[in-house]
Amino acid sequence: MPRTVLLNANVLDGRNPGRMATVVVEGNRIAAVTDASGGQASWDDADRLIDLAGRTVMPGMVLAHYHATYKDLGLTPSPFGLEAKPALQSIRAASNYRLALDCGFTGVISAGSPNGVDVAVKQAIAEGAAQGPRIMTCGRDVGTTGHTNDKSFPSHWQIGASGGLAICDGEDEFRRAVRQEIKDGVEIIKIFATGGHGVPAPADQWQLSPAELAAAIQAADERGAKVRAHLSNSAAILTAIELGIHIVDHGDGFDQACIDAASKSGAFLAPSLHFPKVMMQMAAGTAYADAMRDDFDQMAAILADADAAGVKILLGDDYGAYGFDHGLYAEELPLYVEHAGVSPLTVIRWATVNGADAMGLAGQAGEIAPGMLADLLVVDGDPSADIRVLCDRDNLLAIFRDGVAYKDDLDAIERLAIAAE
Ligand SMILES: [Zn+2]
Repeated sequence: MPRTVLLNANVLDGRNPGRMATVVVEGNRIAAVTDASGGQASWDDADRLIDLAGRTVMPGMVLAHYHATYKDLGLTPSPFGLEAKPALQSIRAASNYRLALDCGFTGVISAGSPNGVDVAVKQAIAEGAAQGPRIMTCGRDVGTTGHTNDKSFPSHWQIGASGGLAICDGEDEFRRAVRQEIKDGVEIIKIFATGGHGVPAPADQWQLSPAELAAAIQAADERGAKVRAHLSNSAAILTAIELGIHIVDHGDGFDQACIDAASKSGAFLAPSLHFPKVMMQMAAGTAYADAMRDDFDQMAAILADADAAGVKILLGDDYGAYGFDHGLYAEELPLYVEHAGVSPLTVIRWATVNGADAMGLAGQAGEIAPGMLADLLVVDGDPSADIRVLCDRDNLLAIFRDGVAYKDDLDAIERLAIAAE
Protein backbone atom coordinates (compact mmCIF):
# COMPACT_ATOMS: atom_id res chain seq x y z
CA MET A 1 0.00 0.00 0.00
CA PRO A 2 1.49 3.40 -0.97
CA ARG A 3 2.43 5.54 1.96
CA THR A 4 2.24 9.29 2.43
CA VAL A 5 5.60 10.56 3.64
CA LEU A 6 5.56 14.06 5.13
CA LEU A 7 9.13 15.32 5.14
CA ASN A 8 10.44 18.27 7.16
CA ALA A 9 7.32 18.54 9.26
CA ASN A 10 7.05 20.68 12.39
CA VAL A 11 5.42 17.97 14.52
CA LEU A 12 3.11 19.15 17.29
CA ASP A 13 2.08 16.00 19.07
CA GLY A 14 -0.21 17.65 21.55
CA ARG A 15 2.22 17.18 24.43
CA ASN A 16 5.61 18.62 23.44
CA PRO A 17 6.90 21.72 21.69
CA GLY A 18 7.25 21.35 17.94
CA ARG A 19 10.15 19.37 16.53
CA MET A 20 11.27 18.71 12.96
CA ALA A 21 10.55 15.17 11.85
CA THR A 22 9.31 12.95 9.05
CA VAL A 23 5.83 11.50 9.46
CA VAL A 24 4.82 8.39 7.53
CA VAL A 25 1.13 7.56 7.09
CA GLU A 26 0.29 4.03 6.02
CA GLY A 27 -3.31 2.89 5.78
CA ASN A 28 -5.24 4.33 8.70
CA ARG A 29 -2.21 4.57 11.01
CA ILE A 30 0.85 6.69 11.56
CA ALA A 31 3.54 4.15 10.66
CA ALA A 32 6.60 6.16 11.71
CA VAL A 33 7.75 9.46 13.12
CA THR A 34 11.48 9.95 12.81
CA ASP A 35 13.47 12.95 13.89
CA ALA A 36 17.19 13.56 14.18
CA SER A 37 17.36 11.21 17.18
CA GLY A 38 15.18 8.51 15.68
CA GLY A 39 16.92 7.34 12.51
CA GLN A 40 15.67 7.55 8.93
CA ALA A 41 12.21 6.81 7.67
CA SER A 42 12.26 4.62 4.58
CA TRP A 43 10.10 4.83 1.49
CA ASP A 44 10.00 3.55 -2.05
CA ASP A 45 8.97 4.74 -5.50
CA ALA A 46 5.31 4.00 -5.00
CA ASP A 47 5.08 6.27 -1.95
CA ARG A 48 3.91 9.84 -2.09
CA LEU A 49 6.58 12.20 -0.78
CA ILE A 50 5.68 15.72 0.31
CA ASP A 51 8.30 18.17 1.54
CA LEU A 52 6.42 20.29 4.07
CA ALA A 53 9.38 22.65 4.46
CA GLY A 54 8.61 23.27 8.11
CA ARG A 55 4.84 23.35 7.94
CA THR A 56 3.02 21.78 10.88
CA VAL A 57 1.64 18.28 11.34
CA MET A 58 -0.65 18.01 14.36
CA PRO A 59 -3.37 15.63 15.54
CA GLY A 60 -6.92 16.26 14.39
CA MET A 61 -8.88 18.12 17.04
CA VAL A 62 -11.92 17.02 19.03
CA LEU A 63 -15.01 19.16 19.52
CA ALA A 64 -16.34 17.78 22.78
CA HIS A 65 -19.60 19.69 23.19
CA TYR A 66 -21.67 19.74 20.03
CA HIS A 67 -25.26 19.80 18.83
CA ALA A 68 -25.28 19.01 15.12
CA THR A 69 -28.99 19.80 14.72
CA TYR A 70 -28.96 23.24 16.37
CA LYS A 71 -30.05 25.99 14.01
CA ASP A 72 -30.68 29.50 15.37
CA LEU A 73 -31.61 27.95 18.71
CA GLY A 74 -33.47 30.50 20.82
CA LEU A 75 -34.64 32.63 17.88
CA THR A 76 -38.08 31.03 17.86
CA PRO A 77 -40.05 29.94 20.92
CA SER A 78 -40.08 26.36 22.20
CA PRO A 79 -39.75 23.58 21.23
CA PHE A 80 -36.48 25.03 19.91
CA GLY A 81 -36.27 23.48 16.48
CA LEU A 82 -37.58 20.09 17.53
CA GLU A 83 -40.67 20.82 15.42
CA ALA A 84 -38.60 20.59 12.22
CA LYS A 85 -39.04 17.34 10.33
CA PRO A 86 -36.61 14.69 11.60
CA ALA A 87 -35.35 14.13 8.04
CA LEU A 88 -34.54 17.84 7.75
CA GLN A 89 -32.79 17.75 11.12
CA SER A 90 -30.67 14.83 9.89
CA ILE A 91 -29.61 16.64 6.73
CA ARG A 92 -28.68 19.73 8.72
CA ALA A 93 -26.71 17.56 11.13
CA ALA A 94 -24.84 15.75 8.36
CA SER A 95 -23.89 19.11 6.86
CA ASN A 96 -22.67 20.41 10.23
CA TYR A 97 -20.64 17.28 10.94
CA ARG A 98 -18.92 17.69 7.58
CA LEU A 99 -18.29 21.33 8.47
CA ALA A 100 -16.67 20.29 11.77
CA LEU A 101 -14.32 17.99 9.85
CA ASP A 102 -13.51 20.79 7.39
CA CYS A 103 -12.61 23.01 10.37
CA GLY A 104 -10.01 20.48 11.53
CA PHE A 105 -12.09 18.52 14.04
CA THR A 106 -11.67 14.83 13.29
CA GLY A 107 -13.62 13.89 16.41
CA VAL A 108 -16.87 15.14 17.92
CA ILE A 109 -18.50 14.27 21.22
CA SER A 110 -22.15 15.16 20.96
CA ALA A 111 -24.07 16.85 23.76
CA GLY A 112 -27.49 15.96 22.44
CA SER A 113 -29.44 15.26 19.28
CA PRO A 114 -33.17 14.59 18.89
CA ASN A 115 -34.82 11.77 16.97
CA GLY A 116 -31.74 9.55 16.87
CA VAL A 117 -30.03 11.92 14.44
CA ASP A 118 -26.48 11.38 15.74
CA VAL A 119 -26.79 7.63 15.52
CA ALA A 120 -28.18 7.86 11.98
CA VAL A 121 -25.49 10.28 10.76
CA LYS A 122 -22.74 8.19 12.33
CA GLN A 123 -24.06 5.17 10.44
CA ALA A 124 -24.30 7.16 7.21
CA ILE A 125 -20.66 8.19 7.62
CA ALA A 126 -19.64 4.58 8.25
CA GLU A 127 -21.50 3.55 5.09
CA GLY A 128 -19.83 6.29 3.06
CA ALA A 129 -23.12 8.07 2.40
CA ALA A 130 -21.85 11.13 4.28
CA GLN A 131 -18.47 12.43 5.41
CA GLY A 132 -17.70 13.58 8.89
CA PRO A 133 -15.59 13.17 12.01
CA ARG A 134 -15.55 10.28 14.43
CA ILE A 135 -18.69 10.75 16.49
CA MET A 136 -19.45 9.83 20.08
CA THR A 137 -23.22 9.89 19.84
CA CYS A 138 -25.66 11.54 22.21
CA GLY A 139 -29.44 11.45 22.10
CA ARG A 140 -32.36 12.96 23.94
CA ASP A 141 -32.06 15.18 27.00
CA VAL A 142 -32.79 12.84 29.89
CA GLY A 143 -34.50 14.80 32.66
CA THR A 144 -37.36 15.17 35.09
CA THR A 145 -40.86 16.50 34.58
CA GLY A 146 -40.61 20.28 34.33
CA HIS A 147 -36.81 20.33 34.14
CA THR A 148 -35.20 23.20 32.38
CA ASN A 149 -35.77 21.81 28.88
CA ASP A 150 -39.23 20.39 29.55
CA LYS A 151 -40.90 23.68 28.71
CA SER A 152 -41.97 22.67 25.23
CA PHE A 153 -45.74 22.54 25.61
CA PRO A 154 -48.10 23.07 28.57
CA SER A 155 -49.33 19.83 30.13
CA HIS A 156 -52.98 20.46 29.17
CA TRP A 157 -52.06 20.16 25.49
CA GLN A 158 -51.15 16.59 26.28
CA ILE A 159 -48.38 16.47 23.72
CA GLY A 160 -44.71 16.45 24.51
CA ALA A 161 -41.48 16.69 22.60
CA SER A 162 -40.54 13.08 23.01
CA GLY A 163 -38.18 13.13 20.03
CA GLY A 164 -35.88 15.38 21.99
CA LEU A 165 -36.71 14.80 25.65
CA ALA A 166 -36.86 11.63 27.70
CA ILE A 167 -38.90 12.62 30.73
CA CYS A 168 -38.40 10.43 33.76
CA ASP A 169 -38.96 10.73 37.50
CA GLY A 170 -37.47 8.50 40.13
CA GLU A 171 -34.44 6.29 39.99
CA ASP A 172 -36.08 3.42 38.12
CA GLU A 173 -37.35 5.67 35.36
CA PHE A 174 -33.90 7.19 34.97
CA ARG A 175 -32.43 3.71 34.64
CA ARG A 176 -35.05 2.85 32.03
CA ALA A 177 -34.46 6.07 30.06
CA VAL A 178 -30.71 5.57 30.05
CA ARG A 179 -31.07 1.95 28.94
CA GLN A 180 -33.48 3.05 26.20
CA GLU A 181 -30.97 5.60 24.92
CA ILE A 182 -28.20 2.99 24.90
CA LYS A 183 -30.49 0.54 23.12
CA ASP A 184 -30.99 3.18 20.43
CA GLY A 185 -27.24 3.56 19.87
CA VAL A 186 -26.32 6.44 22.17
CA GLU A 187 -22.81 6.39 23.65
CA ILE A 188 -23.01 9.37 26.01
CA ILE A 189 -26.14 10.46 27.87
CA LYS A 190 -26.85 14.16 28.43
CA ILE A 191 -28.50 15.24 31.65
CA PHE A 192 -29.50 18.74 32.68
CA ALA A 193 -28.48 18.49 36.32
CA THR A 194 -28.82 22.16 37.30
CA GLY A 195 -30.10 25.42 35.86
CA GLY A 196 -27.79 28.32 35.07
CA HIS A 197 -25.47 28.98 32.09
CA GLY A 198 -28.08 30.38 29.75
CA VAL A 199 -31.05 28.21 30.71
CA PRO A 200 -34.10 29.62 32.51
CA ALA A 201 -33.75 27.76 35.84
CA PRO A 202 -31.39 29.25 38.44
CA ALA A 203 -27.83 27.97 38.67
CA ASP A 204 -28.23 26.80 42.27
CA GLN A 205 -31.31 24.68 41.50
CA TRP A 206 -31.07 20.92 40.98
CA GLN A 207 -33.12 19.72 37.99
CA LEU A 208 -33.17 16.17 39.30
CA SER A 209 -32.29 14.56 42.62
CA PRO A 210 -28.75 13.35 43.30
CA ALA A 211 -30.22 9.86 43.72
CA GLU A 212 -31.68 10.06 40.20
CA LEU A 213 -28.33 11.22 38.83
CA ALA A 214 -26.60 8.34 40.63
CA ALA A 215 -29.04 5.84 39.12
CA ALA A 216 -28.50 7.27 35.63
CA ILE A 217 -24.72 7.13 35.90
CA GLN A 218 -24.81 3.60 37.30
CA ALA A 219 -27.13 2.39 34.54
CA ALA A 220 -24.87 3.92 31.88
CA ASP A 221 -21.74 2.54 33.51
CA GLU A 222 -23.14 -0.99 33.59
CA ARG A 223 -23.41 -0.96 29.79
CA GLY A 224 -20.25 0.93 28.93
CA ALA A 225 -21.88 4.28 28.19
CA LYS A 226 -20.93 7.65 29.66
CA VAL A 227 -22.90 10.49 31.22
CA ARG A 228 -22.32 14.21 30.79
CA ALA A 229 -24.25 16.86 32.67
CA HIS A 230 -25.08 20.54 32.49
CA LEU A 231 -23.74 21.70 35.85
CA SER A 232 -23.58 25.28 37.11
CA ASN A 233 -22.78 25.30 40.79
CA SER A 234 -19.92 24.02 42.86
CA ALA A 235 -21.88 21.71 45.18
CA ALA A 236 -23.67 19.99 42.30
CA ILE A 237 -20.40 19.63 40.36
CA LEU A 238 -18.79 17.96 43.38
CA THR A 239 -21.72 15.57 43.78
CA ALA A 240 -21.66 14.69 40.09
CA ILE A 241 -17.91 14.06 40.15
CA GLU A 242 -18.31 11.86 43.21
CA LEU A 243 -20.99 9.87 41.37
CA GLY A 244 -18.67 9.31 38.39
CA ILE A 245 -19.73 11.89 35.82
CA HIS A 246 -17.68 11.70 32.60
CA ILE A 247 -17.95 15.32 31.41
CA VAL A 248 -18.87 18.38 33.45
CA ASP A 249 -20.55 20.70 30.96
CA HIS A 250 -20.09 24.47 31.44
CA GLY A 251 -19.11 24.01 35.10
CA ASP A 252 -19.89 27.55 36.31
CA GLY A 253 -18.79 27.69 39.95
CA PHE A 254 -15.85 25.32 39.38
CA ASP A 255 -13.59 26.01 42.35
CA GLN A 256 -10.57 24.56 44.15
CA ALA A 257 -12.64 21.75 45.68
CA CYS A 258 -13.88 20.85 42.17
CA ILE A 259 -10.29 20.94 40.85
CA ASP A 260 -9.21 18.51 43.58
CA ALA A 261 -12.14 16.18 42.94
CA ALA A 262 -11.93 16.23 39.12
CA SER A 263 -8.18 15.70 39.02
CA LYS A 264 -8.66 12.66 41.25
CA SER A 265 -11.66 11.14 39.44
CA GLY A 266 -10.51 11.93 35.89
CA ALA A 267 -13.73 13.80 35.11
CA PHE A 268 -13.46 16.10 32.08
CA LEU A 269 -14.45 19.76 32.09
CA ALA A 270 -15.93 21.49 29.02
CA PRO A 271 -15.84 25.14 30.15
CA SER A 272 -17.51 26.34 26.93
CA LEU A 273 -16.53 30.00 27.29
CA HIS A 274 -17.03 30.79 23.61
CA PHE A 275 -20.82 31.17 23.75
CA PRO A 276 -20.76 33.49 26.79
CA LYS A 277 -17.99 35.51 25.14
CA VAL A 278 -20.08 36.06 22.01
CA MET A 279 -23.28 36.71 24.01
CA MET A 280 -21.49 39.26 26.19
CA GLN A 281 -20.72 41.20 23.02
CA MET A 282 -24.16 40.69 21.45
CA ALA A 283 -26.17 41.58 24.53
CA ALA A 284 -23.78 44.14 26.03
CA GLY A 285 -25.34 46.27 28.75
CA THR A 286 -28.08 43.79 29.70
CA ALA A 287 -28.39 41.86 32.97
CA TYR A 288 -28.08 38.66 30.92
CA ALA A 289 -24.66 39.75 29.66
CA ASP A 290 -23.55 40.92 33.12
CA ALA A 291 -24.44 37.59 34.68
CA MET A 292 -22.47 35.82 31.95
CA ARG A 293 -19.49 38.08 32.51
CA ASP A 294 -19.18 37.01 36.16
CA ASP A 295 -19.26 33.33 35.22
CA PHE A 296 -16.85 33.93 32.35
CA ASP A 297 -14.32 35.80 34.49
CA GLN A 298 -14.48 33.21 37.27
CA MET A 299 -13.94 30.30 34.90
CA ALA A 300 -11.22 32.04 32.90
CA ALA A 301 -9.35 32.77 36.14
CA ILE A 302 -9.27 29.16 37.29
CA LEU A 303 -8.53 27.22 34.08
CA ALA A 304 -4.73 27.49 34.19
CA ASP A 305 -4.67 26.18 37.78
CA ALA A 306 -7.16 23.44 36.92
CA ASP A 307 -5.02 22.32 33.99
CA ALA A 308 -1.85 22.38 36.08
CA ALA A 309 -3.57 20.25 38.73
CA GLY A 310 -4.46 17.64 36.11
CA VAL A 311 -8.08 18.49 35.30
CA LYS A 312 -8.72 17.39 31.71
CA ILE A 313 -10.22 20.35 29.88
CA LEU A 314 -12.09 20.04 26.58
CA LEU A 315 -13.21 22.28 23.75
CA GLY A 316 -16.72 22.60 22.38
CA ASP A 317 -19.81 24.71 22.82
CA ASP A 318 -23.42 25.38 21.81
CA TYR A 319 -22.79 26.29 18.18
CA GLY A 320 -26.04 26.77 16.33
CA ALA A 321 -27.54 28.90 19.09
CA TYR A 322 -28.93 32.14 17.70
CA GLY A 323 -26.05 34.51 16.93
CA PHE A 324 -23.46 31.76 17.42
CA ASP A 325 -23.05 30.05 14.09
CA HIS A 326 -21.79 26.62 13.22
CA GLY A 327 -18.32 26.80 11.72
CA LEU A 328 -16.88 29.18 14.34
CA TYR A 329 -15.48 26.21 16.26
CA ALA A 330 -11.75 27.00 16.04
CA GLU A 331 -12.34 30.52 17.35
CA GLU A 332 -12.59 28.95 20.80
CA LEU A 333 -8.85 28.14 20.75
CA PRO A 334 -7.43 31.69 20.99
CA LEU A 335 -9.99 32.62 23.61
CA TYR A 336 -8.18 30.59 26.28
CA VAL A 337 -4.81 31.96 25.25
CA GLU A 338 -6.11 35.52 25.41
CA HIS A 339 -8.37 35.29 28.48
CA ALA A 340 -7.26 32.32 30.58
CA GLY A 341 -3.50 32.84 30.38
CA VAL A 342 -2.65 29.42 28.95
CA SER A 343 -0.20 28.74 26.15
CA PRO A 344 -1.22 27.76 22.62
CA LEU A 345 0.39 24.34 23.20
CA THR A 346 -1.81 23.81 26.25
CA VAL A 347 -4.98 24.60 24.30
CA ILE A 348 -3.79 22.29 21.51
CA ARG A 349 -3.37 19.54 24.12
CA TRP A 350 -6.94 20.12 25.35
CA ALA A 351 -8.18 19.87 21.75
CA THR A 352 -6.18 16.75 20.89
CA VAL A 353 -4.86 14.57 23.74
CA ASN A 354 -7.74 15.37 26.10
CA GLY A 355 -10.36 15.16 23.37
CA ALA A 356 -9.21 11.74 22.24
CA ASP A 357 -9.09 10.59 25.86
CA ALA A 358 -12.70 11.71 26.42
CA MET A 359 -13.72 9.72 23.32
CA GLY A 360 -12.16 6.60 24.80
CA LEU A 361 -9.21 6.79 22.38
CA ALA A 362 -6.37 7.54 24.81
CA GLY A 363 -3.16 6.12 23.35
CA GLN A 364 -4.85 5.56 19.98
CA ALA A 365 -5.48 9.09 18.74
CA GLY A 366 -4.76 12.69 19.69
CA GLU A 367 -1.00 12.37 19.25
CA ILE A 368 1.48 12.13 16.39
CA ALA A 369 3.34 8.93 17.19
CA PRO A 370 3.91 5.53 15.58
CA GLY A 371 0.85 3.30 15.80
CA MET A 372 -1.62 6.12 16.35
CA LEU A 373 -4.68 6.44 14.17
CA ALA A 374 -3.94 8.76 11.25
CA ASP A 375 -6.27 11.57 12.36
CA LEU A 376 -4.09 14.54 11.54
CA LEU A 377 -3.86 18.01 10.10
CA VAL A 378 -1.23 19.64 7.95
CA VAL A 379 -1.20 23.34 8.79
CA ASP A 380 0.38 26.22 6.91
CA GLY A 381 1.94 28.00 9.88
CA ASP A 382 2.83 27.16 13.46
CA PRO A 383 -0.19 27.08 15.80
CA SER A 384 2.13 26.80 18.82
CA ALA A 385 3.45 30.27 17.98
CA ASP A 386 0.14 31.74 16.81
CA ILE A 387 -2.95 29.72 17.68
CA ARG A 388 -5.02 31.88 15.36
CA VAL A 389 -3.64 30.18 12.26
CA LEU A 390 -6.12 27.39 13.08
CA CYS A 391 -9.04 29.83 12.81
CA ASP A 392 -8.56 30.22 9.05
CA ARG A 393 -9.61 27.09 7.19
CA ASP A 394 -7.40 28.07 4.25
CA ASN A 395 -4.41 27.28 6.49
CA LEU A 396 -5.52 23.66 6.82
CA LEU A 397 -3.68 22.15 3.87
CA ALA A 398 -4.72 18.59 4.61
CA ILE A 399 -7.23 16.89 6.89
CA PHE A 400 -6.83 13.16 7.41
CA ARG A 401 -9.31 11.07 9.35
CA ASP A 402 -8.53 7.40 9.77
CA GLY A 403 -5.90 7.75 7.05
CA VAL A 404 -8.36 9.15 4.51
CA ALA A 405 -7.74 12.67 3.24
CA TYR A 406 -10.92 14.72 3.36
CA LYS A 407 -8.97 17.77 2.28
CA ASP A 408 -5.67 17.54 0.45
CA ASP A 409 -3.87 20.58 -0.95
CA LEU A 410 -0.45 19.01 -0.42
CA ASP A 411 0.39 18.91 -4.11
CA ALA A 412 0.08 22.69 -4.13
CA ILE A 413 3.01 22.85 -1.68
CA GLU A 414 5.15 20.90 -4.13
CA ARG A 415 4.11 23.15 -6.99
CA LEU A 416 4.92 26.23 -4.90
CA ALA A 417 8.33 24.81 -4.04
CA ILE A 418 9.10 23.99 -7.69
CA ALA A 419 7.92 27.44 -8.79
CA ALA A 420 10.24 28.99 -6.22
CA GLU A 421 13.28 27.11 -7.49
ZN1 LIG B 1 -25.11 22.19 24.85
